[in-house]
Amino acid sequence: MEHRLPAPTLIDAQALDLDQALQLLQQAGALLPDEAPYSAAWLQAVLNALCDLSSKDALTGLVNRRSFEMALAREVDRVARSGEAALLLMLDIDHFKAVNDTHGHGAGDQVIRAVARAVEQTVRPMDLVARVGGEEFAIILPNCASHVGLAVAERVRERVSELAIEVGLGQMLGVTVSLGGAFAPQWVRSSPLLWTERADRQLYRAKAEGRNRACLEPQIDSLVSAEEKGMLFATLNLDTQQDLP
Ligand code: GH3
Ligand code: MG
Ligand code: MG
Repeated sequence: MEHRLPAPTLIDAQALDLDQALQLLQQAGALLPDEAPYSAAWLQAVLNALCDLSSKDALTGLVNRRSFEMALAREVDRVARSGEAALLLMLDIDHFKAVNDTHGHGAGDQVIRAVARAVEQTVRPMDLVARVGGEEFAIILPNCASHVGLAVAERVRERVSELAIEVGLGQMLGVTVSLGGAFAPQWVRSSPLLWTERADRQLYRAKAEGRNRACLEPQIDSLVSAEEKGMLFATLNLDTQQDLP
């Protein structure tokens, strides 16, 4: 018997329930657009706010874990195709529980926001900074040469350590972060999970070695010459052609 997918109905096309969407935005504390309700500009603004809600972290405005995972998968693809070096850094605030316990959850939130801003301002616009957990961040740095990786991580660490964060009544607070990093293997297809695990292992190492430091997985620079890489792709093309009828 032939199985067919049901034809799309008018109901499917109207799947966006506007009342529900507005309720969602209100619950998330998002500002509703100023434009005249139900105008094209208003609808566009509602859609933009919904996109932000699903892709951004409300506390910091950074990309959330879901968007980070999608961006990382795209980067794995890009590195496999281009052979470019790309670095993944995982960052965790040191002794953050003590900040919450001593100064309160609100102060903790201020610290998370300040660290997010500092990290964003330290990397290039093309780099992606995400909040992937409570006080954990990830940075994807495309096209990052292996010899500058540690310097970039150190710059982030240093910038955060220089922060004086106001946590109420003129009280200033300083924090440090630990970073772990790993490069995507060039000319080989990795997976987002394996890449993240390697960077995480370096983060654990940075914590174990005393915190307020950056540890990067040593990268063995590819010994394959440009000519050999060309040959690799020539072989792949040949194989593909041989498969053709
Ligand atoms: P370590 O140096 O080993 O990382 O120690 P730590 O104290 O930072 O330990 P851990 O990473 O386990 O602590 C994370 C704490 O972050 C626990 C949790 O209560 C707190 N936290 C998680 N999300 C938030 C948040 O959104 N706001 C605030 N203020 N605290 C949060
Ligand atoms: Mg943590
Ligand atoms: Mg921590």
